[in-house]
Amino acid sequence: MSQQGYVATPPYSQSQPGIGLSPPHYGHYGDPSHAGSPPGMMKPAGPLGAAAPGGMLPQGHLPPGPHQFGQNGAHAQGPPLQRFPGPPPGNSAAPSYAPYPPSTQSSYPSPVSTSSVAQLGTQLSAMHVNSYGSGMAPPSQGPPGPPAAAAAFQGPPRSSQPSILQPGSQVLPPPPTALNGPGASPLPPSTHRQDGLPGPAPPNAQYQPPPPPGQTLGPGYPLQQANYGPQMAGAQLSYPGGFPGGPAQMAGPPQPQKKLDPDSIPSPIQVIENDRATRGGQVYTTNTRGQIPPLVTTDCTIQDQGNASPRYIRCTTYCFPCTSDMAKQAQIPLAAIIKPFATIPSNETPLYLVNHGETGPVRCNRCKAYMCPFMQFIEGGRRYQCGFCNCVNDVPPFYFQHLDHIGRRLDHYEKPELSLGSYEYVATLDYCRKNKPPNPPAFIFMIDVSYSNIKNGLVKLICEELKTVLEKLPKEGQEETSSLRVGFITYNKVLHFFNVKSTLARPQMMVVTDVSEVFVPLLDGFLVSYQESQSVIHNLLDQIPEMFADSNENETVFAPVIRAGMEALKAADCPGKLFIFHSSLPTAEAPGKLKNRDDKKLINTDKEKILFQPQTNVYDPLAKDCVAHGCCVTLFLFPSQYVDVASLGLVPQLTGGTLYKYNNFQVHLDSQQFLNDLRNDIEKKIGFDAIMRVRTSTGFRATDFFGGIYMNNTTDVEMAAIDCDKAVTVEFKHDDKLSEDSGALIQCAVLYTTVSGQRRLRIHNLGLNCSSQLGDLYKSCETDALINFFAKSAFKAVLHQPLKVIREILVNQTAHMLACYRKNCASPSAASQLILPDSMKVLPVYMNCLLKNCVLLSKPEISTDERAYQRQLVMTMGVADSQLFFYPQLRPIHTLDVKSTTLPAAIRCSETRLSEEGIFLLANGLNMFLWLGVSSPPELIQGIFNVPSFAHVNTDMTLLPELGNPYSQTLRMIMGIIQQKRPYSMKLTIVKQREQPEMVFRQFLVEDKGLYGGSSYVDFLCCVHKEICQLLN
Ligand SMILES: [Zn+2]
Repeated sequence: MSQQGYVATPPYSQSQPGIGLSPPHYGHYGDPSHAGSPPGMMKPAGPLGAAAPGGMLPQGHLPPGPHQFGQNGAHAQGPPLQRFPGPPPGNSAAPSYAPYPPSTQSSYPSPVSTSSVAQLGTQLSAMHVNSYGSGMAPPSQGPPGPPAAAAAFQGPPRSSQPSILQPGSQVLPPPPTALNGPGASPLPPSTHRQDGLPGPAPPNAQYQPPPPPGQTLGPGYPLQQANYGPQMAGAQLSYPGGFPGGPAQMAGPPQPQKKLDPDSIPSPIQVIENDRATRGGQVYTTNTRGQIPPLVTTDCTIQDQGNASPRYIRCTTYCFPCTSDMAKQAQIPLAAIIKPFATIPSNETPLYLVNHGETGPVRCNRCKAYMCPFMQFIEGGRRYQCGFCNCVNDVPPFYFQHLDHIGRRLDHYEKPELSLGSYEYVATLDYCRKNKPPNPPAFIFMIDVSYSNIKNGLVKLICEELKTVLEKLPKEGQEETSSLRVGFITYNKVLHFFNVKSTLARPQMMVVTDVSEVFVPLLDGFLVSYQESQSVIHNLLDQIPEMFADSNENETVFAPVIRAGMEALKAADCPGKLFIFHSSLPTAEAPGKLKNRDDKKLINTDKEKILFQPQTNVYDPLAKDCVAHGCCVTLFLFPSQYVDVASLGLVPQLTGGTLYKYNNFQVHLDSQQFLNDLRNDIEKKIGFDAIMRVRTSTGFRATDFFGGIYMNNTTDVEMAAIDCDKAVTVEFKHDDKLSEDSGALIQCAVLYTTVSGQRRLRIHNLGLNCSSQLGDLYKSCETDALINFFAKSAFKAVLHQPLKVIREILVNQTAHMLACYRKNCASPSAASQLILPDSMKVLPVYMNCLLKNCVLLSKPEISTDERAYQRQLVMTMGVADSQLFFYPQLRPIHTLDVKSTTLPAAIRCSETRLSEEGIFLLANGLNMFLWLGVSSPPELIQGIFNVPSFAHVNTDMTLLPELGNPYSQTLRMIMGIIQQKRPYSMKLTIVKQREQPEMVFRQFLVEDKGLYGGSSYVDFLCCVHKEICQLLN
């Protein structure tokens, strides 16, 4: 495990507490070389600009550039100039990927897909939103093209600060129609001219309004922005706590303070809906390098044409900066979230399996990268150049093939490894432990049979259920029965192993009382085929609840249970998974014994991190042993009080297992949730004894990894198992310059054992663009992936750093990323305006949600176990799950159209969106709430609950009654859809407006001020804005 500190921090020093940053840290801000560069030094203007042959293509001739999708369009200036007409990429007689063909990228933002600065203005203690519009008016809702006149003038001139600009001075505000929405209006192509390059100049010499009085121009920019979008005159925000003085030159007459209209700040729902509207239901092909995929919230069909599907890999940006200086300047994390076993919908092609027989996969001699579309065949097909390390390799004779007239192998489309982003290889014995084929994995079920579990019926429930779920053990493709073997252990403060050999009439129990040095008392008959031993196993499962019915044993052990399972797998020489069903703090005398150390006094101190660390040094080495033997641990926890999740959950987390937690479990209420989880966990796609390696092309490399992993060195990511829901987040850093021509290539290879015991390699390849223009970097960002990265890096840092420092770093980095954009990419405007890149429009709201998460919020009201639990969950989440987790879905149910199968449109998570007359459903991936307004329509209440009124609804239920009416059926169907594809079964809570449990529900209204602290979205936006202003000064 990398023990590196918090990585998202480069320029932020911990010695600088407090949100404020002093400008001297940022040499690139205020660099005089940026200002006042002489005109004429500019790079060619216009999306095609001078780089187009002849350089005189009038702007008006540009394709209108419909906004293909909202989140990347901001300030798009089109493909970097160098790439467009540029020389063909070196050695690319036939590049396997399109180097950058703008004309073929149907889904790439078009060159003039401008739009979308989200602008907020502030003035002294009041912040007024004066030019905003883009945040709300989605690019895609604008008409497809800019008005001709606007195009000719490179966008309508905009007055950035009405309070400064003289009315009617040099700029003509566009008529306040939708056309002026950033979705429609092209930004001046100048918006990216600067991009860190010295001496940009006005992009269009013909149109250069004089600077307004008092306004300092950005380097060489004419002030062109004004009223970019419907002007929200007078929409002013009274900022609680006051806004420290804005820039001096902005001091205008005191403004009347009004409440900021929440509709005027960027809405996550709007961003999600825009993407859905423009890209939903379509086929997304992965044929283009650096292409930005649809959002995780958009349903579409993905077709692999040379790059891995975004279901497998998502990136924080699809365009890496060429240099580390640029990366440092922008501070946008460069990361990929890799979910190697992601579930693929049935209408998409499953991975092909390539088998090269005894020779095994073709690999680069130098860097060991696997054959993939990034390898360039040369010399008539006899050799190939590695796309990762540039080494020229001989093509093995068995693999030789002639090239066609464009230099592509004749068998290009017949070989998955030449034409697809993702595929599998059959691994040879070289890839197996001890050079022999692995045995099929095993599942071991380990049940805590202490007094309380017997008494509350949990043991009986588990045993009953196992009889059913064992019928559904996963199997490989054509297998008739599963090759997995199963074993059973029960325990309290001693362990009971069971012999369930098929030849026995009844199971035999062997007790191990020495828990300090656990050994496996039987080899033959412990791990068996379920099919063969079915009757003995059923016999055992029937007996277990009775066997311990009279036990009064309250104490349990825990670490010895894991060790016993691991030793059993080791003895059987197979990988596998332990399913542990556990309830209590393991206080019995044994290794890993725990005491109650839940000390709320540590909260908000530098020692708070201790609460997230395991309390003994037994669990970490145990996890390491488990990983070394391919033993994955999944833990079902049923705590009724503090059980020290930070300690108990460590092994599950580091071994790629899952931690499920059911607080105060009651069989009659919570069985369904638990059983759904158990079934899902047993049946899900999983690879065992895995090792992942992420290779990159020259110039950058993977430096840090976050997930359910263990690392013994800096490159090999070891996983006892990895299933379809687990993602590993990988951070990249430069170690040299990247080239725009060759881009940044990533290959993720996972070597693993299948459920039937085959050794395989799963390969995912992804090509990203590189640019020396900061604007390209910003427009290629994906906020959902950024949040996943920030969450994991922060939650990892929680173990080592004070929470206060981590929160500050997150705020600072958010401000820094946005300030850098503002400084280098956005059109000049009053310093007090908040300008957000289109791709990061909702970064502040999501970041605020992360900051308000109970892990980072130091509040004694929240249980320590819950915080440790959520921390561990997030560490293995993929992008879709983290998106939902941090910004829950809230949907009105009272407007339900029972004739339609589409979900009611989601609304923003704020109390102001609820209504007394309404019923709302909220889901975040762990919990589901059905909130009933006090004046909910009685017919709906009747339809859903079969009771006459609100007052009659019993809120104890965790399942809705199955009634035959359309309301009931539709609502339950909707809940089913929301639950689908989610790794955890969500617990349903019925909440009545103005009744006590509503407090719990309100914590999920993440745009509001938090119940236990945490800013509202509006306040946070103001705070970030303040930071940005400070950075810019
Ligand atoms: Zn290589």
